[in-house]
Amino acid sequence: MATTRRPLVAGNWKMNGLRADGAALAAAARKGADDRCDVALCPPATLLTTVAAAIEGSSVLLCGQDCATETHGAHTGDIAAPMLADAGCRLVILGHSERRHDHGESSALVRAKAEVAVAAGLAPIICVGETEAERNAGGALAVVGQQLSESVPDSAPGLVVAYEPVWAIGTGRTASAHDVAEMHRHMRDCLDTMTGVDALATRLLYGGSVKPGNAAELFAVADVDGGLIGGAALKANDFWAICQSAAEAV
Ligand code: PEP
Repeated sequence: MATTRRPLVAGNWKMNGLRADGAALAAAARKGADDRCDVALCPPATLLTTVAAAIEGSSVLLCGQDCATETHGAHTGDIAAPMLADAGCRLVILGHSERRHDHGESSALVRAKAEVAVAAGLAPIICVGETEAERNAGGALAVVGQQLSESVPDSAPGLVVAYEPVWAIGTGRTASAHDVAEMHRHMRDCLDTMTGVDALATRLLYGGSVKPGNAAELFAVADVDGGLIGGAALKANDFWAICQSAAEAV
């Protein structure tokens, strides 16, 4: 069946970036967003308003990197979903492997965060992915299927899922096109069994060491609807080239 999903390329700056860096990266994103491809920037919270101003008037989307399960109150250091929406965010990354591993976030917590994000009008980008040991043990599909079933809320308009094999993040290694195709087909099948999820409309991103040199091959894989980009999102020319690859893959 022909797909009408527009590709999405989201640049996750993680804990990087000072005010001076924001302008060049926002300019690359403005250039990369065209009528064939959605582009989102996920700066650290300190730069949300700076980046919001830099992308004003363009189609570039602003995206948070995480949100709390509470909407307000005595939670020092946390950021609430309504605050992200108020800062101009349309999306929020949830369950990134760095949060699952560095902060011990479970899929149940990711699901709770996704519910408050949706209530605040944000589309969640829910991240899933297996470790190298899990893949080597032959459990990659089962691990990701379980993460999906436990992390995705019953209703998630605009849901995006990012498949990010943990062993590929920031390592320079990527999953093979064959393995990405198998996983993305599996994820769409899993989503199809869930109540309240429009599996065919859900954009499935690949993440893990995407670079200008491998983006075209990865984005050409069936059921890959763009990418979640880490390191290469911090280099304006590389990010723009990756956005171009996504647009051309349509
Ligand atoms: C990420 O952090 O989501 C990511 C995919 O990072 P990198 O592109 O650096 O592997």
